[in-house]
Amino acid sequence: MRIGIGYDLHRLVPGRPLILGGVTLPHDKGLDGHSDADVLTHAIIDALLGALALGDIGAHFPDTDPRYKDADSMKLLQYVHALIQSHGHQIINIDTVVVAERPKLRPHADTIRARIAEALNLEEQAISIKAKTNEKAGPEGREEAISAHAVVLLG
Ligand code: MG
Repeated sequence: MRIGIGYDLHRLVPGRPLILGGVTLPHDKGLDGHSDADVLTHAIIDALLGALALGDIGAHFPDTDPRYKDADSMKLLQYVHALIQSHGHQIINIDTVVVAERPKLRPHADTIRARIAEALNLEEQAISIKAKTNEKAGPEGREEAISAHAVVLLG
């Protein structure tokens, strides 16, 4: 078995969609970035790559590469999943934390979980999405950013 950890943070800005785990959420701001800035999916991708010591998301999908401008991060996740499988491994489970003051994510957690499970062809029981505020402290608490942490176990 192999374990991996991933972390990411993106700034919240006006005029961008807010996409978490492939789900577009209603909000007055979205996450800034070269790709679709899906911070949760990026954390999961880094955890998957880290589990097999295959580098990080920036090495595989450089943010200087125009191919990844506004890229659908769920497609990048599926690419990395195939890479994991090509190394003879499969995902046992994924646990995540998303840190956001607003919008409240808990009402959307099951939708996000279902979307990620579908993309990875896993049971929903294999995916955990936990939503935390940051008690109004730090960049997440001041609604300047959203961050995400992910841990994966591969068999
Ligand atoms: Mg990112």
